[in-house]
Amino acid sequence: MGMTLEEKANVLAGTSHWRTNGLSTCGVESLVLSDGPHGLRKQEGVEDHLGIAESVPATCFPTASALACSFDRDLVEEVGVALGEEAAEQGVDVILGPGVNIKRHPLCGRNFEYFSEDPLLSGELGSAMVRGIQSCGVGACLKHFAGNSQEYARMVSDSVIDERALRELYLAPFEHVVRAAHPSAVMTAYNRLNGEYCSQHEWLLQRVLRREWGYDGAVISDWGAMSSSVASVRAGLDLCMPGPRPDHARAVCEAVREGELDELVVDERLSTIARLSERLRESPRPAPVLDKEAFYRAHADLARRAAAQSAVLLKNNAALPLEASQTVAVIGAFARMPRYQGSGSSRINPKFLDNLWYRLEQRGYAATYAEGYEPVMGEATPQQLREAEEAAARADVAVVVAGLPARYESEGFDRKLMVMPRGHVELIERVCAANSRTIVVLQGGAPMEMPWHDLPAAIVLMYLSGCQGGGAAVDILSGDVNPSGKLGETWPERLEDTALGQGFPDVNREVCYRESLFVGYRYYDAVGVEPAYPFGFGLSYTSFAYRDLRIAGDVVSFVLENTGCREGAEVVQVYVSPAKGVVPPPAPRQDLAAFEKVLLAPGEKRCVEMALPVEAFRSWDARAHSWCERLGAYEVRVASSSRDVRLSTYVDVGFEEGAVRLSLCDAPTACAIPASSADVSSRDLYESPYPGCFVSDEAVRAFESLYGDGIPAPPPVTPLTIDSTVEDMGAVWLGRRMFRIIDRVMAGPTGKMDHVQRTMMREMAANMPLRSLTTSGVPLAAVEGFVHMLNGHYLSGLAQVVCALVRAWTHG
Ligand code: BGC
Repeated sequence: MGMTLEEKANVLAGTSHWRTNGLSTCGVESLVLSDGPHGLRKQEGVEDHLGIAESVPATCFPTASALACSFDRDLVEEVGVALGEEAAEQGVDVILGPGVNIKRHPLCGRNFEYFSEDPLLSGELGSAMVRGIQSCGVGACLKHFAGNSQEYARMVSDSVIDERALRELYLAPFEHVVRAAHPSAVMTAYNRLNGEYCSQHEWLLQRVLRREWGYDGAVISDWGAMSSSVASVRAGLDLCMPGPRPDHARAVCEAVREGELDELVVDERLSTIARLSERLRESPRPAPVLDKEAFYRAHADLARRAAAQSAVLLKNNAALPLEASQTVAVIGAFARMPRYQGSGSSRINPKFLDNLWYRLEQRGYAATYAEGYEPVMGEATPQQLREAEEAAARADVAVVVAGLPARYESEGFDRKLMVMPRGHVELIERVCAANSRTIVVLQGGAPMEMPWHDLPAAIVLMYLSGCQGGGAAVDILSGDVNPSGKLGETWPERLEDTALGQGFPDVNREVCYRESLFVGYRYYDAVGVEPAYPFGFGLSYTSFAYRDLRIAGDVVSFVLENTGCREGAEVVQVYVSPAKGVVPPPAPRQDLAAFEKVLLAPGEKRCVEMALPVEAFRSWDARAHSWCERLGAYEVRVASSSRDVRLSTYVDVGFEEGAVRLSLCDAPTACAIPASSADVSSRDLYESPYPGCFVSDEAVRAFESLYGDGIPAPPPVTPLTIDSTVEDMGAVWLGRRMFRIIDRVMAGPTGKMDHVQRTMMREMAANMPLRSLTTSGVPLAAVEGFVHMLNGHYLSGLAQVVCALVRAWTHG
């Protein structure tokens, strides 16, 4: 191609936080990347990857945990199109999203950015979003590949996952999206996976992603995730972000010259970036927007529709919808200062922001307002509680808006508890006592304990519903929209009910995913624990009847009827439950195999047909390292939620010409299939006592044998390396002194931040690897020199630091 090695190597890292390097001689253009995933975070001034500095106003759509509840591929695709249009309008080439990591535990601080605990739902909705974004000639970057399910120490922790759980749960949504929607880019996760950093994981990037799944897009590091330049390039990382990283090109060139790295590998990485640039250049983009006001208004309308379609009605004792004549006491600071998005890199500067209080008044309700609690900390004073009670007692209906304050959940740290703030709980209890027609509207990104859930007459879950979530909530309350969302994740009753109990996040560097496949409903089904609200659950203002189940070829069909007097949509779900012995243990009781959202007019009936994919009847054989068809007897369950089976039959599953062939059969031997998903008799799970069963010693041993290869040992803390964390520095004398200085230095900038940003910075700083200093422009050689000093080589280390800084200074 007539380029020097240096020129080629330069393209393998960004030039700034958001720009890649171009190389005109081979037609590579410099591209602009922006977060993602539920809105555009384009920064034009100060740049950062944590959502701290300003960004250009954009539409903030509901976050993925909300959108997942829509179970609506078309709607998510529409949101994707709008994201793509805003990106095109802003000159952004690639959006950093969607994120399809599996929600392993309700306390992961970043759950709001992910769709589901189920790989099929995550994969289908992730694909829809990618299709939407890319239809505008803008690239989507699927993240975070892979096994990134906790925030604590995310840049250094090692997700130790057995091969079967890895394939069937954690890689499955990525595989689904890669095969179905061909995202332009894939972002490697910060963490290690089974001993190796994802950014330099040859097995993950080459063998699985490229060779098995046939991926030919670009592989990009998460911001600051790359540990070793040469190892990453060799393993398949095409682009190191953010830049500038002159040390990256230098290290690559040096390795080529010394024969450690084949130049052909550099060519290969370059050609992937060239392909990305070429594809984006050739994809048609929407025409420039002339009427910007109308453009963003239309997107705000879509955000409202998406939020309303994703809202989940958890409870309704005939309190909803409201009647137009009812007087309403709106209680809770979130009614005016909504929790509508999470913190961190996905934080959008919303173009338009509404709230429930304003929309309720606009809709014509006679409403009063009481603050109820202080919005940041969530505490309620006696006076606030008294005022709330009085307001509730005076009105026909009380609407309490409560949930998780921003400081409870964010990128960068995990939640410690599953409870809501005491002030919110007390408020709900007091208002429910004052008015029996109390409706609770919940805002928050992930499940919370609701010990009060028997008290209110109705509960509406909005999750983090984006910039028009207030209007969407009013659409549901007023009945303008009939709720049709279903939970994309299980809401356990208590933290102790979860597979890991209090054992999340794991503070060891090795995070052993001991529960293997028993994540989400797969766990609660297996141990027979009744969740507060099961996966797939959600009520409607109408009712649906299911009948006439038929099986033909790979298709399950049945008649669905809207038996109420309102138009409504039902999310129908098909689960498959294998007879004993068909799928080797550990085998979940049932897996979601298909879903559809069906809109019916009152009284309307429709024959719903759903084809079951081959993937529903295979499992990973860890010994053979391959997928294995699991043919035999299954129960096919047509359900309204994972715990509400409406129709079921037994089938014998075979494969014919690459498709599933289902034939009706008799019930297998009496005990073959558990009578219900709550059957607890099986000992497929490790024999450890519930609750918190995967934190026992026995579970540790069982996992070791399931894992097989020997759990990778964590790297020793000393001598320190560039991958050592700020906290690790405490192991050496100089480190402890530096630690104090860093603390003081950070007090300046963090003093200007809000509470959540400060917590995020503090928690992240302690677990930040020293190499992350490169993302703030510190040359890698200086970081290496610093590490040298920490290890006791004070003078030579200092000399290296000084030289590196001087070189960087003089070379600009
Ligand atoms: C996040 C990514 C994000 C990137 C750029 C990282 O901290 O993990 O999801 O895309 O920053 O902002």
